[in-house]
Amino acid sequence: MSFVIKLKWFFKQRWKSYVVAITIMTIVTLLTMIPPIMIGNIVDQIGENKLTSESLTKTVLLLLFLAILLYILVFTWITTLFRNSALVESILRKKLLTNLTKMTPGFFQRNTTGDLMALATNDVLAIGQTAGFGVMTLVNTIVGVSVVVIMMVSLISYKLMLAAFIPLPFLALVINKLGKNVRVNFLEAQASFGKMNDQALESISGMRVIRSYVQEENDIAAFDHVTTEVLNKNRKVAIFNALFQPSISLIVGLSVAIGISYGSYLVIQNEISLGDLITFNIFLGMLIWPMIAFGEFINVLQRGSASADRMDNILSQQPDVKNGEVTTTVNAPLSIEMKNLTFHYPGSTANSLEQVSFRLERGQTLGIVGRTGSGKSTLLKQLLRQYPIDNEKLFISDIPVEQISLEQMKSWVSYVPQEHMLLSKTLKENIKLGKPNATQEEIDRAIKMASFTKDVSRMADGLETVIGEQGVMLSGGQKQRVAIARALLLDAEILILDDSLSAVDAKTENIILHEIRNERAGKTTLITSHRLSAVSHADWILVMNEGRVIAEGTHEELMFHGGWYKEQWEHQQMEASLDD
Ligand code: ATP
Ligand code: MG
Repeated sequence: MSFVIKLKWFFKQRWKSYVVAITIMTIVTLLTMIPPIMIGNIVDQIGENKLTSESLTKTVLLLLFLAILLYILVFTWITTLFRNSALVESILRKKLLTNLTKMTPGFFQRNTTGDLMALATNDVLAIGQTAGFGVMTLVNTIVGVSVVVIMMVSLISYKLMLAAFIPLPFLALVINKLGKNVRVNFLEAQASFGKMNDQALESISGMRVIRSYVQEENDIAAFDHVTTEVLNKNRKVAIFNALFQPSISLIVGLSVAIGISYGSYLVIQNEISLGDLITFNIFLGMLIWPMIAFGEFINVLQRGSASADRMDNILSQQPDVKNGEVTTTVNAPLSIEMKNLTFHYPGSTANSLEQVSFRLERGQTLGIVGRTGSGKSTLLKQLLRQYPIDNEKLFISDIPVEQISLEQMKSWVSYVPQEHMLLSKTLKENIKLGKPNATQEEIDRAIKMASFTKDVSRMADGLETVIGEQGVMLSGGQKQRVAIARALLLDAEILILDDSLSAVDAKTENIILHEIRNERAGKTTLITSHRLSAVSHADWILVMNEGRVIAEGTHEELMFHGGWYKEQWEHQQMEASLDD
């Protein structure tokens, strides 16, 4: 039942096609009752010596006609029903992806990629099967059994029917028990499948590291372990699945045995004719499929509902950050201000930001420096609105961010994350990711600002070079500059560079920052860097330690006051002069 409730939207949308399919299936079942009756009649006619060649020809022609009619009808209902299967699968996949694109990092911390992949493949398939094959088996059972029973009672003998049905309650018992086992084991198998997906993803993407640490054997062993687990769990599902059909055949076989022995007795007693006995046993045989269908139905339904539960669990999750109830329209981010913002990541107890405050006017540049792990990236991420924060702590144009729509906020910000994210597409496609309709001129300009022009000219296919998964064909510094060109192409109001130049040399870094300062005059920039020269031109610099701002000011002020900044600066200057 829960399956129907969870897929109510789909059944509502497609009810007409289900009505058509079910109606045709019912007609088909009724029509299949005709041949056994005709066969019974012929047998009786033979017995009574009344068979004429005329009646035989008529019967054969009618049987042929029926066969052709059934061919067309069965084809129609199968295509109608199984189209629904394919449809629900594609709708669910789309829904899933749409939902994933709305999710914030917290969601991906809770749900692994492997699990999500299992959901998009196996679970979606199981749901589609239930919506098509499952419905078919259910209708087959209900219509098939009732039509056969009605025919047996009305045409032959209710006594014989009752006797032959004695073994059937056992069937219900067996199906119930097996169904439960299938469901439990299927859930476990799906969970292991998710784990295996994760392991495979990690092994493939981390292959180079694994090889360089000579961990191939260990990795293979670990993968072997998870695949064995998947194998064992699936084997269990297969065992219970396989028990369905023979159990059903066995019980129906018992029915047939009773039907023949008690039926023969009734023929001798002259209660039914010989033709009736034959018709009855053909009817009994016609019960086998609906019974198997019922077993299949339970089995498919169990898997389908398990999958629908998993799907529902993911689809019902909401992003951690949503638009507020009231939103104020802000034309442009005239200022960015943080007031005593304290923040900890969901699921972590320690604060990653503690009482952080600063104010930045439009057109200014903020530099953020500090030891590794001091909270620099965390601070920048607050502007991306990926994590929930307290109200009235972060303001844009003096309006609290929770009153600004997320869409508007995102349209202002262009972000170069610390871990670059490149797609296995061409360079050009990677660069114009955020602005698909960018002109060649704009792209060239962004590439020039990112000091990447020379590199492009050296690539085999220039901008059309496919850079491989995660940009494996590029050097670390090249990857960073592609990511920067991508961000600069947007020419956004707020540019966030999170340690985005760590892999390029100091000279190139200076050239890029100089370009950015010139081209982005009047727009706001936030930069974090381990190299202090990258922020020395900033209008304001925050020095962070353990989530707190421990010093702030302009470069000159910070140099004047001494402390970590001055020490670090002198240290880096000395190193630079040694390098030259
Ligand atoms: P780096 O210079 O190495 O880039 P950072 O100053 O950018 O360091 P952050 O990434 O802001 O440091 O991390 C600050 C603290 O927050 C660290 O202690 C880190 O362990 C923690 N942290 C970062 N990301 C998460 C996360 N997703 N969940 C929980 N804790 C996190
Ligand atoms: Mg960082």
